Amino acid sequence: MALMITDECINCDVCEPECPNDAISMGENFYQIDPHRCTECVGHFEEAQCVQICPVACIPVNPAHVESRETLLQKYQRLQALEPAPQLPAS
Ligand code: SF4
Ligand code: SF4
Repeated sequence: MALMITDECINCDVCEPECPNDAISMGENFYQIDPHRCTECVGHFEEAQCVQICPVACIPVNPAHVESRETLLQKYQRLQALEPAPQLPAS
C-alpha cells in the first residue's frame, strides 16, 4: 500500500528528505505522497521512514492504493531500474 498525508500535516518539512524514493513533495497546502513512488519503504527499510518521523501522525495508508508486499517490492525494483544508484568512483 502506498501511504498518504492528510490535512493534519503541519508542513514541518522533516519527512520529505527521509523518503528513499523521493515520493514526498510539497502540495498545494501541505505535503503529499506520490503513490506511484511510495513503496512503504519496502526494499529500503523495515519501517516507513515518514511515519516514524512525523510528529503529528498524519500519514495513514492510502485506501485507493492497496498493494501487497510483493507488489511493493516490484515497484521498488522498477524505481531502481529507472534510477540506478550512482556508482562509486573507482579508487
Ligand atoms: S513510506 Fe517510505 S517510500 Fe513511502 S512516502 Fe514514506 S518514506 Fe517515502
Ligand atoms: S512529517 Fe508529518 S507533519 Fe511534517 S511535513 Fe511530513 S507529513 Fe507533514
